[in-house]
Amino acid sequence: MTQKESTHTELVAENQALRARMAYMLEQAERNHAIMMKHQAFDLDIVGASSFPELIGTIFRVLPVISELDSVTLSLIDEDSDIHFVMQKLGVDFSEFPGLIFVNDVEQLGFDLGSRNAGAAPPKPLLGMFSPSLHAGQFPDPSQRLQSVALVPLLRNKRIIGSLNLGSRDPSRFSPSLGTDFIEHMASIIAICLENVISNEMLKYIGLTDSLTGVYNRRYIDRRLLEEIARARRQNYPISFMYIDIDHFKRVNDTVGHQGGDEVLREVANRIKAELRLSDALARFGGEEFVVLLIDADLDSAMFVAERIRAGIEASLIELSHGLKVSITASLGVASLACTEDGPPEQTALELIAHADEALYQAKEGGRNRVVRYIPD
Ligand code: GH3
Ligand code: MG
Ligand code: MG
Repeated sequence: MTQKESTHTELVAENQALRARMAYMLEQAERNHAIMMKHQAFDLDIVGASSFPELIGTIFRVLPVISELDSVTLSLIDEDSDIHFVMQKLGVDFSEFPGLIFVNDVEQLGFDLGSRNAGAAPPKPLLGMFSPSLHAGQFPDPSQRLQSVALVPLLRNKRIIGSLNLGSRDPSRFSPSLGTDFIEHMASIIAICLENVISNEMLKYIGLTDSLTGVYNRRYIDRRLLEEIARARRQNYPISFMYIDIDHFKRVNDTVGHQGGDEVLREVANRIKAELRLSDALARFGGEEFVVLLIDADLDSAMFVAERIRAGIEASLIELSHGLKVSITASLGVASLACTEDGPPEQTALELIAHADEALYQAKEGGRNRVVRYIPD
């Protein structure tokens, strides 16, 4: 081979190598672009989530797929179990989210918190081999056979609210030397969404419940009543409504004080609740008045429940924190909505409440501590 020919061969080989390298880089760029697009769609999805279950449902469903992970779990710090309590009250079914883990202390997340001075840098993600003794809290399912994991702190204003836990069966997936910019960015978006959705759910809960007794408030019942009237008509079953008013409550306040009166209200709410089914809704309508909405209950069965509530309130003295004991009775008015009734739900709801109120008035007139049913004239 002449000098010229061999240079030519070298150039061809070099050219081929460069082309192969270009093709590889192009493929990588396309792959990265596809991953980025998927993550952008994911970000939009979670930013748009309007409820806690929708948000965590999306994270658990989508993230393992787009990030090619074998496990994704979330640990949330919930010191006084407030988040858990409110979500449960709002009907979140935790069995749907086995990857959701509540911890009551930041120490349980496993980060190196260093000095916890105000100015200290927030913890960095922890990447490395999976260790059952270190990571069983974050990855409780041993059947996943994880090999490497990343624990990524969820930070809001430098405060840790939890951790995003990523697990892979590939031992080389999360090595301590891997750059963490991408997962830190992802965790910061997830943290914002979580905080946002949790505070919205808390507000929702506060807006629908009575802070003194923890039962629903009037706003909730007004809304629920409209839904239930529509459903009862569609599915053809009766609903009943009960108005409960504590007898001579002014006297109770006069003898045990306003705070004692508040304790009585809490205990009465508990005694009413003890007689109800899960599908029934109890609310404090204001002052010392409660209402109960009974689903799939006709007037006779509602009267039966009302009588049990009346007896339960009267049954034993209510003991107050400062030692005093008070005897309490209540009067109840009960009305029902037959499934054949028609008309706008708003008007039907107002009528149902007015009928129960009228029956309650008769119970008061009749001497109190009794249950009266509304009989249409
Ligand atoms: P009746 O048997 O006719 O129902 O007599 P009553 O004294 O219960 O009548 P009324 O409904 O007029 O009085 C209700 C009282 O409840 C008046 C008010 O001082 C008291 N009250 C209203 N809201 C609260 C509250 O949040 N806490 C306490 N402790 N008392 C309240
Ligand atoms: Mg009253
Ligand atoms: Mg009263």
